[in-house]
Amino acid sequence: MWHILGAGSLGSLWATRLARADIPVQLILRDPARLHSYQQAGGLTLIEQGQTQRYPIPAQTLDHPEPIQRLLLACKAYDAQAAVARLAPRLAAGAEILLLQNGLGSQDQVARQVPQARCIFASSTEGAFRPADFQVVFAGHGHTWLGDPHNLHAPAWLKDLHQAGIVHDWSLDILSRLWRKLALNCAINPLTVLYDCRNGGLREHPAEIASLSAELSELLCAGGHSAAAEDLHGEVQRVIQATAANYSSMHQDVSQGRRTEIAYLLGYACTSAQRHQLVLPHLQALHGRLLAHLHARGLPSH
Ligand code: NAP
Repeated sequence: MWHILGAGSLGSLWATRLARADIPVQLILRDPARLHSYQQAGGLTLIEQGQTQRYPIPAQTLDHPEPIQRLLLACKAYDAQAAVARLAPRLAAGAEILLLQNGLGSQDQVARQVPQARCIFASSTEGAFRPADFQVVFAGHGHTWLGDPHNLHAPAWLKDLHQAGIVHDWSLDILSRLWRKLALNCAINPLTVLYDCRNGGLREHPAEIASLSAELSELLCAGGHSAAAEDLHGEVQRVIQATAANYSSMHQDVSQGRRTEIAYLLGYACTSAQRHQLVLPHLQALHGRLLAHLHARGLPSH
């Protein structure tokens, strides 16, 4: 049984694909009001390549007594620790938690909260969004890497993902993957917010992109992830080119007045630089500008 916390974009994308492959899934929603709305909706709806299909997946609230053996945590990074704290009493012996959060920092917060559970980290390039409550659009096919920095053995349940058509690989160095993705995010997303532009708009700021990429490479190397630093600048430029027409996730969050995951992305990078006693002036200035920008819009900076 897969328990999935969070019927948001990624949680719904995973839940519907597992359910349609006949793998038992149980959704966990935040409270009775949310459960009631879900029941009114009659299930989760997946919209993929113009096809719409509803899946009446069973759901329960956080306080349900059923023990949890395998949990897919599909909330935002800033909600992860509190959500797991609520579920801690339900975790069975040998429980496993699959963490879908972007960035870094929330994985360690969760691991500290439930030291008895095995935490598996994920890094995904899949894209999904919610046009309405309990509906998800599978917007971008991609790949998910999974790994456990403390235990390199792949879990047997990866076969469920295979059966469900969730394209994935077991990574022996998931931290480097997460760091590389974080670095790409730090080089692109904050600037798209500050310049209020699509990713392609950053082609007009090559010097800033180059200095940020150089500082982020230095940070990756200082943290022992030199493989993740390789040709970072080149990849930043390729991502900007390939996604020129898109608005970054952080740009979308800010323009819609939603809280960002800044503390787990640029904030985490700056804290880590301090820990390594690195002086990275462009990165730190970018962080300061972004915090001021969020503050001016009444958005949280954590
Ligand atoms: P999302 O659409 O905002 O969904 C998060 C869900 O978590 C919401 O449904 C929210 O419930 C639920 N939640 C939060 N706290 C909860 C709690 N205590 N109990 C029960 N439910 C709770 O977010 P998302 O886009 O799926 O993103 C999840 C993570 O995946 C983020 O770290 C994101 O950066 C990462 N990611 C997303 C994508 C993507 O394409 N969407 C791609 C790659 C990575 P309510 O609806 O009740 O608020």
